[in-house]
Amino acid sequence: MGVTEVNVRDHAVVVGGSIAGLCAARVLADRYSTVTVYERDELPSAPANRAAVPQDRHLHMLMARGAMEFEDLFPGLLKDMVAAGVPILENRPDCIHLGAAGHVLGTGHTLRDEFTAYVPSRPHLEWQIRRRVQAIDNVSIQRRSVAEPRFDGARGRVTGVLLDPDGPGAEPQFVAADLVVDAAGRGTRLPTWLTQWGFERPTEQVVDIGINYATHYFRIPEGLIQERVVVAGASHDLSLGLGMLSYEDGTWVLTTFGVASAKPPTEFGEMLALAHKLLPAHFNEALAQAQPVGDPSFHAFPASKWRRYDKLDRFPAGILPLGDSVVSFNPTFGQGMTMTALQAGHLRRALQSGTDDLATEVNRATAKTTFPVWTMNAIGDVTFHHADTKGPMPWWYRPSGALFDQFLGAAETEPVLAEWFLRRFSLLDSLYMVPPPRILGRTIAHNMRLWLRGRREQRDAAKAAAVTSPRSP
Ligand SMILES: Cc1cc2nc3c(=O)[nH]c(=O)nc-3n(C[C@H](O)[C@H](O)[C@H](O)COP(=O)(O)OP(=O)(O)OC[C@H]3O[C@@H](n4cnc5c(N)ncnc54)[C@H](O)[C@@H]3O)c2cc1C
Repeated sequence: MGVTEVNVRDHAVVVGGSIAGLCAARVLADRYSTVTVYERDELPSAPANRAAVPQDRHLHMLMARGAMEFEDLFPGLLKDMVAAGVPILENRPDCIHLGAAGHVLGTGHTLRDEFTAYVPSRPHLEWQIRRRVQAIDNVSIQRRSVAEPRFDGARGRVTGVLLDPDGPGAEPQFVAADLVVDAAGRGTRLPTWLTQWGFERPTEQVVDIGINYATHYFRIPEGLIQERVVVAGASHDLSLGLGMLSYEDGTWVLTTFGVASAKPPTEFGEMLALAHKLLPAHFNEALAQAQPVGDPSFHAFPASKWRRYDKLDRFPAGILPLGDSVVSFNPTFGQGMTMTALQAGHLRRALQSGTDDLATEVNRATAKTTFPVWTMNAIGDVTFHHADTKGPMPWWYRPSGALFDQFLGAAETEPVLAEWFLRRFSLLDSLYMVPPPRILGRTIAHNMRLWLRGRREQRDAAKAAAVTSPRSP
């Protein structure tokens, strides 16, 4: 359905033209007669890295759920990406190597359910989305920096944005808007503005994770590695991990990372040496032929952060935060873009509902989808990555982490468990990483079998040793 009379509003402004801002513009365009996206960065006309989004040089996984959500927002996107060379893995578990918390999941087996993954580079995905948004008649994307939103105390609402001067000698410019979407990313100043306008600052949930990233691109002769998605997460005993993806232009990206402030290798040869250590032997031969491309990039991500706008008693009308400006997740789990697409879905539904209190509705819906993912990440980070939750930690985090470790151990050799994990890791089926009774039962039975087998093997080995070295009379 197109624009309806009832819900058509006038002007919406989006601060930031990255993934969150573009998704916001897409859904706002159905309800506002004009949408303006202000992005301070130069936006390339082809897929390319951007200065203001330094993370786009590093490995970005698009979760299977994210691909579905983006397709929902931008029909035809996935087909176009594949036509442009983006690898598509249709029921190809053999193309995925998934190592989590020191366990290599047995995902090489046949999958029971359909599972499709897409592997675009971050600049390519953003460009595909951007050109779709640029093509929407009532959306314009302008290269301008927003100084701040303007708040009208008498009306208790945001009434537009003040733009920074457009060049030397120019004046700041005010642009009126009925709604301002803050999609300015992690660095948003909305919490400070709220206090300036007489509202409370949102509480922040923080997980200090101390991640350091190093990334290098490389090429290898086609066909040497069949896997297209390679993940070896950090574990309790080793604070280093890596990810490797094959992108649409034939290059590979290799990101090494350290958690708990560990420093990953940064020089290409040393990065390959880490791959040698973390990946199965068959990768080594192929990686021996890797030719580095360009220079390495580095990034530090000190903490995951969730600003609890949903818990505020009062929130100004006329403004709404979206994307990383609300919550930024441990990037090694690869969830940020998918969770942002989910938030855009909340915004779309709230707009369709015709609610008078858009922000409250979207903030609540975002909290609902964020909670399970945030909680599981925090449990994983505390259990396996030596992270600190800053402030009180629920007592059940560590026992849950220990139980999950046992589940992952079983999933190494139990294909049904491995598939369940692959799907939940990809944010499919449910955002809760809580095994249902049938999966728990399988885990216990499988671990019991492994334990009994281990005991039998020990007994047999002891018997064999006794036979080969009989005791002296
Ligand atoms: C190292 C790293 C790796 C990651 N890996 C993954 C991954 O594997 N998978 C995944 O799904 N996610 C990943 N993420 C997360 C992902 O990048 C973000 O979730 C995603 O980019 C959504 O962010 P956003 O659009 O909210 O903000 P951003 O991408 O940070 O964009 C904010 C935009 O706002 C603009 N802006 C800011 N202030 C102003 C202003 N005042 N005026 C005008 N414009 C402004 C900026 O220039 C920028 O373009 C990773 C993040 C990091 C840091």
